[in-house]
Amino acid sequence: MRAKRNCLLLCLWLVFLISGSSCAYQAQNVFPLDNAYPRHNTLVAELNRISNAAPGLVKHRIIGFSDTESLPIYALELGKGERNILIIGQHHGEEVLGVALSLYYAESLSQRYDKDKRIREILNEYTLWIVPSLNPEGWRIVSEGVINSKRKNNRDTDKNGRLDLRTDGVDLNRNYPVFWDKDSELNPLSTNYKGSEPASEAEIKAIIQLGRQKDFSFAIFYHSSALGLLNERIFLPAVDKHNDKYLDLQRLAALYAKKTPRDYERGHYSLHLGPSSRVGNARNFFYHSLGVPAMLIEVGGINKAGVSVIHPPARILQKIQKRHLEALLCLLEAM
Ligand SMILES: [Zn+2]
Repeated sequence: MRAKRNCLLLCLWLVFLISGSSCAYQAQNVFPLDNAYPRHNTLVAELNRISNAAPGLVKHRIIGFSDTESLPIYALELGKGERNILIIGQHHGEEVLGVALSLYYAESLSQRYDKDKRIREILNEYTLWIVPSLNPEGWRIVSEGVINSKRKNNRDTDKNGRLDLRTDGVDLNRNYPVFWDKDSELNPLSTNYKGSEPASEAEIKAIIQLGRQKDFSFAIFYHSSALGLLNERIFLPAVDKHNDKYLDLQRLAALYAKKTPRDYERGHYSLHLGPSSRVGNARNFFYHSLGVPAMLIEVGGINKAGVSVIHPPARILQKIQKRHLEALLCLLEAM
């Protein structure tokens, strides 16, 4: 009788284990986005709330305006230190995880400054320049639930006088004035269209100006690949030689990767060691033109069904936010 009951308990435990783990594995893209994600129309209020709650530690800035709709590009200047760090949450409209990460960093770090010695030491050494979205036009479309894939800004690139959501726009991460002529993407309808000339877009002019003013010690760009080929990987600038500066960047990127567990698989993020794109992207521009160590982080994992989950439900989002904040803190401590 006792053996039978033990067997039953064991079976129940196994069922619980299997169903528990399959729940986590079956996280899917949720659209319109879960309420836990920041929204374009409430961003100003959020940023004001965060900066008003910590005057003297957080300042709310506008670094420029978008090209077609003149939407403000907001930044938070967080910290009291002399070493400036740039964090851009988003270049591509549908890649919203980085926007959510950016706001979480600002909120969590500013709230913990007074009572957490570790955070205080970091923010006394560094000032984080957090730009939640460099592409407010694309982000607006996605965060308002209009369409779930909108990569580019809203420039009328086919010049037909209206916004075609699926084809119009410039890929802001191909528009930087470095290696721009090596990029063959000239088709205005392509999702990777590089623009009519280097830095043709006001968004890119704005971030170049900030980059030239601030003498950044490090730059991080968050992305989320919907393709399922790049997920949970860190990409460095395209270089010919691995000099000391590059090797140090590689060391810090590897540390960040090792500190970030994957969403639905065992193990942690990895550092891409193969060749890197020689196009006009942010990491190439900051590294080669401004001398700033820079890396791109692809957030969002692949679930057990092989789907790239870049719009996960709130429960997974919150896990991702905590993990990336910890990795960021480790990186700053190791710099
Ligand atoms: Zn991207």
